[in-house]
Amino acid sequence: MIHTNIDIDVLYNSTSPVIRTILEKALRGEELSVQEGTALFHTDGKELEALLKTADIIRKGKVGDTVSFVITRNINFTNVCYMGCKFCAFSKRMEDSDATFLTFDKIARRSQEAWDRGATEVCIQGGLHPKIKGDHYRNILKTIKDQVPDMHIHAFSPFEIWYGSKLSNTTPEAFLKDLKDHGLGSMPGTAAEILDIEVREQLTQDKLSADEWAHIIKTAHNVGLRSTSTIMYGHVDEPRHWAAHIGRIRDIQKETGGFTEFVPLGFIHYDAPIYLEGKARAGPTYKENLQMHAVARVMLNGWINNIQVSWVKMGPEVAQKLLQGGGNDLGGTLMNESISRAAGAPHGQEITPAEMVRIIRGAGRTPVQRNTIYEVVEKYDDHNPLYHQPLVKRCSEQAERITNIC
Ligand code: SF4
Repeated sequence: MIHTNIDIDVLYNSTSPVIRTILEKALRGEELSVQEGTALFHTDGKELEALLKTADIIRKGKVGDTVSFVITRNINFTNVCYMGCKFCAFSKRMEDSDATFLTFDKIARRSQEAWDRGATEVCIQGGLHPKIKGDHYRNILKTIKDQVPDMHIHAFSPFEIWYGSKLSNTTPEAFLKDLKDHGLGSMPGTAAEILDIEVREQLTQDKLSADEWAHIIKTAHNVGLRSTSTIMYGHVDEPRHWAAHIGRIRDIQKETGGFTEFVPLGFIHYDAPIYLEGKARAGPTYKENLQMHAVARVMLNGWINNIQVSWVKMGPEVAQKLLQGGGNDLGGTLMNESISRAAGAPHGQEITPAEMVRIIRGAGRTPVQRNTIYEVVEKYDDHNPLYHQPLVKRCSEQAERITNIC
């Protein structure tokens, strides 16, 4: 979508002077304050439209008209966890009938299968299982590298690093260095939720504090591991928390330069304990999803180039809209997503590369397969990816939704 200055002037003329001033500042590439970001989270109607167009222009200027995706497989090695995060529907107790714990052999087989289907990355995360030892994390890496030496391993949230280093009686820095030596390639910046004490106390009893999360992420960047950055929003939080969170992510990026992207993750409420107890709302609204991706784009301009749209949280239809308001990446094909699915997300576990390409073209953009650190693997401007059947059988409703959008 191309915007002329006339389009923008017309739109800006219909906004309040305050919003106009903020958006013009963003278009000039100047840094927005947390207060200005908060104001943008209150836009509606024409003002929201002006925000989305501003984000779209900044996106186009920064990264052009391609939309990237990565072929990756999620391997959740266990869902056993006793941390009791109140938004989490994924964790189980050891005696639960649906508790899982993958053997190393199974992890190796799943990694090989992913490689055979064109994956450049496996994403490994799990619950904080009370019976594992600290070296379990290293042994997972060794297992995968023995099986598929060239696979990039994107693994272990800051919460897992915190847990593994405690189990190993060492510092996060020493623990991370050891994991890097054994094949860790990068880290998911999950477990950030909202980097705010008040909010974290309600969500996680502040077991991993905002400061500890930031410390572990900065340490990872400093030992040479890049990571994503995330926000989970739409539960007990408010716009002021969102802008402050993005501001804090920006501050970390100024210090380390280690974030590859920012990933807004809307809270999936259906089976989340905090929602079932009536203490959280039912995830973000459509408008809030639009605002989040657009405000992230304008606040992070100059610092984080890639704003990821999570199809697994949003669904393919909404994902296409978000690509018109700041987004430039569609994340991973996933193959076996189980965290959002456990919380009741209805969008399935996998989108094949061919479907990714069709979704991106449907949004009027050019698809690009990337690797974890955003290097181009293949540009699909005049051809299609090899066709693979979905790895996991789809229920008819999911199949129909994906077929319709593609
Ligand atoms: S979010 Fe992670 S640490 Fe928290 S309960 Fe769920 S699996 Fe455990």
